[in-house]
Amino acid sequence: MIKKDAVVSMSYNLKNSAGEELGRADNEKPLTYLQGAGQIVPGLENALEGLAVGDKKDITVTAKEGYGELNSELKIKVERKQFPPDADIKPGMQFRANIGGDHEHTFTVMDIKDEDVFIDGNHPLAGQTLHFSVEIIGVRPATEEELTHGHAHGPDGSHHH
Ligand code: ZN
Repeated sequence: MIKKDAVVSMSYNLKNSAGEELGRADNEKPLTYLQGAGQIVPGLENALEGLAVGDKKDITVTAKEGYGELNSELKIKVERKQFPPDADIKPGMQFRANIGGDHEHTFTVMDIKDEDVFIDGNHPLAGQTLHFSVEIIGVRPATEEELTHGHAHGPDGSHHH
């Protein structure tokens, strides 16, 4: 049964409210994660607690319990000259930055107009209600190494990284 410190393998399919598929993992290549370690979004992790191998479940996760609400303060305009001179700035480029102190966000370059660069630090799935359809394929206790690292090492615990 899925509980804290269990390593879970599951197949899933993720859609937004419009029914567009946002991601999936098949039975042959399942998603493997460590329960209770924050490896997956909180709303999904909570809903999986107590499930067992073979269980299938449809789970709806609000933005707040998913990738967060859209934060307009993370949509900002910066000047081209704030980037290193040799940086190849183009839409879609991503980089990590810390604005205003608390913690780092991954920013994506959205647009460039003359000397202005428009960047967005929201997760691409922020603000979205997530619709997961999951099937539990495997549940096992975590190895000592996995608990030390705070993440799963693949379905059989032997993955090197
Ligand atoms: Zn590790």
